[in-house]
Amino acid sequence: MFPSRFRYEAPHSLDEAIGLLHDGGDYVKVLAGGQSLVPMMKLRFASPEMLVDINDLPGLAYHRADPDGSLHIGALCRHVDLERSELLPGTQPTMAAAAPLVADPLVRNRGTLVGSLCHADPQGDWASVMLALGGSVIAQGPGGRRAIPLADFVTGPFQNVLSYDEIAVEAVVPPAKGARAGGYLKLERRVGDFATVGTAVAIETSGGTVIRAGIALTGVGGSTIGATEAAAVLTGKPLTADSIAEAAELAARAAQPRTDHRGSAEYKRHMVRVFVSRILGGTLSATTGPTPTGATAERAA
Ligand SMILES: Cc1cc2nc3c(=O)[nH]c(=O)nc-3n(C[C@H](O)[C@H](O)[C@H](O)COP(=O)(O)OP(=O)(O)OC[C@H]3O[C@@H](n4cnc5c(N)ncnc54)[C@H](O)[C@@H]3O)c2cc1C
Repeated sequence: MFPSRFRYEAPHSLDEAIGLLHDGGDYVKVLAGGQSLVPMMKLRFASPEMLVDINDLPGLAYHRADPDGSLHIGALCRHVDLERSELLPGTQPTMAAAAPLVADPLVRNRGTLVGSLCHADPQGDWASVMLALGGSVIAQGPGGRRAIPLADFVTGPFQNVLSYDEIAVEAVVPPAKGARAGGYLKLERRVGDFATVGTAVAIETSGGTVIRAGIALTGVGGSTIGATEAAAVLTGKPLTADSIAEAAELAARAAQPRTDHRGSAEYKRHMVRVFVSRILGGTLSATTGPTPTGATAERAA
């Protein structure tokens, strides 16, 4: 399939790009990695009048930790940059676990984390990870910059709150107040597939107590789901087998899966329960000795 005709612009500055979006007419789209937008255009699910290609914009291909401990991921940071990052493994276990599980190597070479957040696919992996971490998106438009928490950024399947003339310039993970732990587990039919079920867990502990927790779910609802009640039962106390079981149960209840060719709703809900137990069980065993619950980052078959 071929896309509809469209005008193509490749600006060299952010101001120019925002100007093109502002003046460009009714249906203008930003092109980042193109790994979601181009297939949508070829299938004619999207037929923008103009593409504003941001790949020539300087200074957006980064991920870096600031002195306050916050992590900043620029709009042109590719999935592969995060997969190969030396920064993430020691500091961001949930992101480090997810990065190699996004799509396949070809897609990871071009696709971007920020583009994935903007695309807001209910089966996208990064939105759950960033939601669990309490992350936000920095949008820039003609009126300046604003920070949008992930919980407010994704409004539904393939929908976000960006204005037509805003560009998401970076995603931010706030500094940790304690020691980070967690992971991301994904059930997929074959390597490189979208998630049948994905589960992101991010906790921070201090003095043996969980001081912050986030749990978010991929592929088990009409959009990314924040399992806030499940996260709340972990907070303010030490991680125990009981609190893990309770969180896993609440996360399973927060899921809104549908039966389809990938599995029954009951099976998918069960996998959420298993994944939350497995990730948190791995964290618990790292502090108290081995348990049979397994590791925090693995590709489920
Ligand atoms: C075969 C295949 C398998 C895949 N498997 C997975 C998977 O397992 N898990 C997963 O999470 N994803 C998967 N993807 C999607 C992939 O991760 C995409 O890279 C990602 O969803 C979009 O990032 P992008 O940079 O390619 O965005 P693009 O395709 O360029 O854009 C996607 C949308 O976001 C908007 N956009 C992008 N960047 C910005 C910005 N900076 N500001 C404002 N709007 C912006 C665009 O206008 C468009 O609407 C897969 C894709 C393919 C083709």
